Amino acid sequence: MKVLKFGGTSVANANNIGLVKDIVSNSSNKKNIVVVSALGGVTDLLIKAANLAANQDATYKKVITEIEERHLSTAKELISVKNQSSVLSKVKSELNTLETLLEGAFLIGEITAKLSDKIVSFGELLSSFIISEYFKQEGLDAIYKDSRELIKTNDLNGKAVVNFSLTYKNANTFFSGTKHAVVVAPGFIASSENGNSTTLGRGGSDYTAAIYAAAVKADILEIWTDVSGMYTANPKLVKQAKAIPHISYEEAMELSHFGAKVLYPPTIQPVLSEGISICIKNTFEPENNGTLITKSKNEKGKTVRGISSVENIALLSLEGSGMVGIPGISKRFFEVLSQAEISVVLITQASSEHSICVGISADDIDKAVEIVNNAFEYEIERGKINPVIPEKDLAIVALVGDNMKSHQGLSGKMFSTLGKNNVNIRAIAQGASERNISTVIKKGDVKKALNTLHEEFFEENVKQLNLFVMGVGNVGAKFLTQVSQQKKYLKENLKLNIRVIGISNSRTMLFNESGINLNKWEDSLEKGEKADKQKFFEKVNSLNYRNSIFVDNTASAEVSETYNKYLGNSISVVTCNKIACSSKFDNYQELKRLAREYNAPFLFETNVGAGLPIIDTLKHLIASGDKILKIQAVLSGSLNFVFNYFNDETTFHDIVKQAQEEGYTEPDPKIDLSGVDVMRKILILARESGNQIEIEDIVNNPFLPKESLDTTNNEDFFASLVKHEDSFQAIYKKAKDADSKLKYVAQYEDGKASVGLQEIPKGHDFYNLEGSDNIVLFYTERYPNQPMIIKGAGAGADVTASGIFADIIRIGNF
Ligand code: ADP
Ligand code: ASP
Ligand code: MG
Repeated sequence: MKVLKFGGTSVANANNIGLVKDIVSNSSNKKNIVVVSALGGVTDLLIKAANLAANQDATYKKVITEIEERHLSTAKELISVKNQSSVLSKVKSELNTLETLLEGAFLIGEITAKLSDKIVSFGELLSSFIISEYFKQEGLDAIYKDSRELIKTNDLNGKAVVNFSLTYKNANTFFSGTKHAVVVAPGFIASSENGNSTTLGRGGSDYTAAIYAAAVKADILEIWTDVSGMYTANPKLVKQAKAIPHISYEEAMELSHFGAKVLYPPTIQPVLSEGISICIKNTFEPENNGTLITKSKNEKGKTVRGISSVENIALLSLEGSGMVGIPGISKRFFEVLSQAEISVVLITQASSEHSICVGISADDIDKAVEIVNNAFEYEIERGKINPVIPEKDLAIVALVGDNMKSHQGLSGKMFSTLGKNNVNIRAIAQGASERNISTVIKKGDVKKALNTLHEEFFEENVKQLNLFVMGVGNVGAKFLTQVSQQKKYLKENLKLNIRVIGISNSRTMLFNESGINLNKWEDSLEKGEKADKQKFFEKVNSLNYRNSIFVDNTASAEVSETYNKYLGNSISVVTCNKIACSSKFDNYQELKRLAREYNAPFLFETNVGAGLPIIDTLKHLIASGDKILKIQAVLSGSLNFVFNYFNDETTFHDIVKQAQEEGYTEPDPKIDLSGVDVMRKILILARESGNQIEIEDIVNNPFLPKESLDTTNNEDFFASLVKHEDSFQAIYKKAKDADSKLKYVAQYEDGKASVGLQEIPKGHDFYNLEGSDNIVLFYTERYPNQPMIIKGAGAGADVTASGIFADIIRIGNF
């Protein structure tokens, strides 16, 4: 004999019930017990209607109409016209009874647990009836059996306790007595000894099926649902989760206890004692093997088998000096909770005898606080115990696996993985069986925690990086192209999976939680919502993805002022915008502090020398114990470009214009020509070398006439360049006569920095610097005479974008 249970989604509508029929028809067993849930969502609707009626809210009638329509339309689609009338009239008569019951509740304005059970039982009653009639019509040798006649329980409504001996006797007698190939029975519902309807708890149809399987010593129990087995984590929350092919009863029990809803936790006990295997299968992909749950041992080498989570948890802590040395306090604590039917999901290890802390369902917390405070009233009044402290909005995340006990370091790995992603752990518990390690965290962190842990324990170390890119102009657009081109390479070679989740320009912004298609982001962005820097941050923060990185490709001061929010929420920042690092020292330092405190790298390699590894090299020199003595550099790709091409056959104006058009200058070219940009760069290098220095401390010897410096827009600026062409030609001529070239040089030595145009003679390291190249000479204690030289293209969208990319990869390897 075989027992097949079909869940809510599997029987949600006529089409799905058709698939169910095919599965049952294909069973190779002679006898089959088919247990069905209510049509998907109907139990929730029944509970909703009951609550509305009990609150004397007449809209419960609308809910009844919805329930009615679901069943009538399903029945009409399944049952041919000639058989319809009897089926529909039975369905309608059941619905009338339901309506009468709800009307009663509405009139009295109250609902008892007993009535509530009666009301919710209609979901399974109706589904099982319709399905059995459909099976018969389709030629299956099927009959219907009401589970309330077989499963006997006590009268604890809502989650009744099964009387196994009586139930097994009833079930055995009935199932072995029947000659039919298929018996269709409702899941979830039972009856008390005096005949009232009871239910087995939400998700209880699995349990019904297990009870029947154990009663008839079935060959196998098949749980047919909407996913292909028990997964390494809830597939709705963790995309990379995979079905576990084979798992032990204990592991499955543990996973379901900690929230793997695919199996109702009490289901395993009855079949475990009879050694009956459970197979979890997908109604929508029946050919998929699913998960087999048996007594057999774990697959070799696998320690952590799955990760699960229970949301809606609250912690309850009992504390006080009076607890020390007084026996029986914990006994009383657990006794009152158990008397109130409050189940304890987790007990955390107290660090001292001063406190006991348990995790319970958040729904029970108010009641728990009241009864525990009452029970310890005497001690509380005398100050020996404090009133209990409730904490809400929490969740449990648990690692599960039979072999975890023989492995050291798993909990360390779990905690450090969570810690790195700034998931704060409120409490920890390790089952005595060492089959699970559970942590209590904030509810809002569950998705992030599950995904990070999944990545750590199951995904061959593929690390997902989630990017939020602000600024998609020259540099930003190039950057997105590079990401799109390198995606595959990075995944295969560096085990980094990069997704761009959000992008924004100054007009619109766009988010796609599963990753923006980088081949056509322009169109989608165009249609995006109105750009708003604050909302952008709020969205990034509320998504709460692990390894989130904010990428700033703008030159905006306003954007740079948002970094502290990102870093303070553990979101890394990568920026080519120099404003933050060259702002007040306090701000620079604060951003670095936030980055350290919240474990969120703050990287700005492209602030100096675009894609050249200048800051990274400096950091490595310092980290390895070297000391910076002097830095000499040509750091402005734009100025280098300008002075390399400017001569007596061109005009200064045209060359600056060309540099601007080719993307070698800041959007406002005066920032480059006035030396401000180079001041910012040498300032950043000085700070990274360990100096507390401000922009005002840097000596700037400008070559631009005062009038050009005083302009306030690009148009005036360019006009002033035309006007002062003679002075630029004079500078050129002087250098040429001295057989020198003009270079804009930045220097840092003994805590002092300066910038200015210099005539560089032949033979100097700077003399042959071409195009928009940059060069940096680091004189250090280890390189005192021959400096360490970094030289190469120091401006341009492509190299800047690649520098940003390099910072992102640095974070990936962090
Ligand atoms: P049914 O209605 O068939 O009983 P449920 O909704 O009760 O189905 O259970 C199936 C759901 O359980 C899946 O759709 C999935 O969202 C959820 N789930 C949670 N954790 C897991 C897990 N580890 N493996 C598979 N499914 C899980
Ligand atoms: N219909 C019930 C519920 O939704 C039982 C079940 O589906 O297992 O909880
Ligand atoms: Mg279920």
